[in-house]
Amino acid sequence: MTETSITPNAVAAVSEARQWDRLMQMARLGAFRGGDGSEGVNRACLTPLDREARRLLIGWGQAIGLTPSIDALGNLFLRSEGTVPGLAPVLAGSHMDSQPAGGRFDGIWGVLAALEAVQALHEAGVSLARPIEVVAWTNEEGGRFAPGCMGSMAYAGHSAADSWDAVTDSHGVSFGEALREHLAKEADLPRRPLGGAPHAYVEAHIEQGPQLEAAGLDIGIVTGIQGSRWFLVELLGASAHAGTAPVSMRRDAVQDMVRAITALNALMADPTDVLRFTVAKIEVEPNSSNSVAERVRFTIDFRHPDAAVLTARGDAIEATIRGAVRHCDVTVTERFHALPVEFHPAVTGAVERAAAAQGLKAVRMPSGAFHDAQFMVPLCPSGMIFIPSYRGISHNPAEYSSPEQLVRGARVLAQVLAELARD
Ligand SMILES: [Zn+2]
Repeated sequence: MTETSITPNAVAAVSEARQWDRLMQMARLGAFRGGDGSEGVNRACLTPLDREARRLLIGWGQAIGLTPSIDALGNLFLRSEGTVPGLAPVLAGSHMDSQPAGGRFDGIWGVLAALEAVQALHEAGVSLARPIEVVAWTNEEGGRFAPGCMGSMAYAGHSAADSWDAVTDSHGVSFGEALREHLAKEADLPRRPLGGAPHAYVEAHIEQGPQLEAAGLDIGIVTGIQGSRWFLVELLGASAHAGTAPVSMRRDAVQDMVRAITALNALMADPTDVLRFTVAKIEVEPNSSNSVAERVRFTIDFRHPDAAVLTARGDAIEATIRGAVRHCDVTVTERFHALPVEFHPAVTGAVERAAAAQGLKAVRMPSGAFHDAQFMVPLCPSGMIFIPSYRGISHNPAEYSSPEQLVRGARVLAQVLAELARD
């Protein structure tokens, strides 16, 4: 088969109906109805529902001859062999867990698009030198166990495999316990060593932003991902009676939190509006309207595409808080740190060529959200393919991309995989 005939056959074999049907079957696992009537998904990682979804995927993979295996973090791989022994595989996938009130497409589509692309390559009779492995990373969302991306971080050696053993979910179950239980239940699957040296990594994902839809485009050629730093801040003062304790004698944790956030807003001020600074989770104790707050915990989510800004302002967070509070003891813990990454031209170029060959309208764009692909960058040439998201809505039951938009993404992925795995 000549090179020019390979990809059109495989691209034509990518099935819109089959991919959509699988997405909807997956969406039943954890389905719930949102307030506006839309259908959402709540499928937390390492739960029985997560296992059911993984088994469904494994069944579809085995039906086309793929071999499953899992590693110590529960990352799941479905391997399609190449024709030349010993070559490093091309990895393609995403994650299967969802946010607690998530949608039907975030993550799971990237896994199913990879499966669809591999199946189309098989059906078109394309033989590729390199193996392709469909991968589903454990706990990308961080909804049950924070932070997210544990599976890909451990695989890539960004963090040690036992880094999060003591992290607990809202029921007090630790990640270590949940993982041990999961691995015991999946003991029939072949185990593989954690980590590897892939030839390339490609992740298809919904945009989760409004730009592609607003511009009437089909494909986002993702150029990179901005960096993120997450902090947990704890302020410890003293509780007192709201009616009797003189204000001058209080150690009021809420008032110190207000001082801290005001100072942080000044630190994070950015006239260019590129910097993202968010305080969105606040816990107050005793959380009573007539008791002075003894303790406040709040989170900081800070993102920027420039590593220098991310480092300088992120490193100034603790001193800024300490300089602002008047009465409380301060503890600042950094819980997540991912530097900005740029994707590799071998992958962005392949995505661009595939979209152009298929007559699709594509644009180069950065990702504001983080993804597993971020952690693969130090390991191998990596990149992402975005498709439009309805109104940019995500982490929400109203999240939607149409079967046509989704199949265009899978077709581009099929062509990209054919290019990356051919030699
Ligand atoms: Zn995702």
